[in-house]
Amino acid sequence: MPGTTPSIYCDYAATAPLMPEVRQAMAEADDRFYGNASSVHRPGQAAKVALERARKTLAQALGAATREIIFTSGATESNNLVLCGLFGERLSPGDHVVTSRIEHPSVLRPLERLAKWGVEVSMVAPEPTGEISSGRVAAALRPNTRLISIMAANNETGVLNDVAALGALAADRGILFHTDAAQAFGRVALDVAASGIHFLSASAHKLGGPKGVGLLYARKDVPFETLHLGGSQENNHRGGTENVSGAIGFARAAEITFQHRQTLWRRLTDYRETFLAELDRLGVTYQVNGDHGYPGLISLRFPPAAGGALENRPDDAYGQSLMMNLDLNGVAVSYGSACASGSVEPSGVLMAMGLSEPQAARSVRFSFGYATTEQEVLAVAHVVDEVVQGLSQRLRSPEMTVPAVDTGP
Ligand code: PMP
Repeated sequence: MPGTTPSIYCDYAATAPLMPEVRQAMAEADDRFYGNASSVHRPGQAAKVALERARKTLAQALGAATREIIFTSGATESNNLVLCGLFGERLSPGDHVVTSRIEHPSVLRPLERLAKWGVEVSMVAPEPTGEISSGRVAAALRPNTRLISIMAANNETGVLNDVAALGALAADRGILFHTDAAQAFGRVALDVAASGIHFLSASAHKLGGPKGVGLLYARKDVPFETLHLGGSQENNHRGGTENVSGAIGFARAAEITFQHRQTLWRRLTDYRETFLAELDRLGVTYQVNGDHGYPGLISLRFPPAAGGALENRPDDAYGQSLMMNLDLNGVAVSYGSACASGSVEPSGVLMAMGLSEPQAARSVRFSFGYATTEQEVLAVAHVVDEVVQGLSQRLRSPEMTVPAVDTGP
């Protein structure tokens, strides 16, 4: 895999390494399209043409019209822009929004703000499989529901939601539908028009594009306020000089990803089977969290020995110890999601699915991607086995408790 560290990178759900083709496209773009895309002179217009080409590529990937794509700094901004921006346009105090308990903080926190402004927010619980079913969403609808915001794929379990069914439900009731597709874009086919999606958020870096670039698909007939007051860039939706090479890098990453999407899906499905089979062969005891949709993301929990000292201990820090020890042994995985990094709280997503706090605290997330190799997957299974055995030996010794973990910044 690219990069200089010897570690095996298994955290594609947090971010993917930059694709070499993307790096090259961006370097060329920085040289050739240095003009300000809003300037009327030729360097400016050259940048504008390149920016619009990138916009078109991304629009086509979603079945959208080119002018419905707004470049942002990432899915966080896209989620904030649409959720806060709808207030005063399509959302007023007393209106109702339905979301889920397993959304990313960049959806939940803007919705908390809307709640402060007087909007009623309902949070639907996932099925035990991790899915947000359209049945549960339908049951939460009220006559004053104006918006449904449900993610397309979850960042901690990889579980895919049926966005077409959610979109059909929203369309049937005349409700707006927003989906956070940060984990789904490029991994599953998304057609905004066919799925009744009014707004969709995505980030370039989850695909191997640059960090700090994203998009909001916004259906052209739905007005919302901008958060970045300034120039008239991005069709008046986001003031500020456009990040031309970032947009070009995003489009290049999307092109490559969509071209190889099905092959990668098959490869990741094989990796997943290989990984779990190798853990089984080595005798590692684990359980899979969630009924997986996306094969590249595997959330595993490692149960304590039945009746052992740690069974059901609420202060169990095993998942974090595992993550830290895997890291020390060259394997980069996540405890929960990167967005909760530094937090020692067990995953709220897993607990919303019905896992107990100790079960959530004994879970780690492995995520594989475009540069992962089969040898790496097998090597990771072996390191997991060694680390799990090492930890259980340390935990069996009477004077040892759960190893202290420094979670860093
Ligand atoms: N939503 C989901 C589901 C995500 O996984 C992420 C990235 N962790 C985001 C939103 C935010 O993306 P970004 O950090 O690129 O703004």
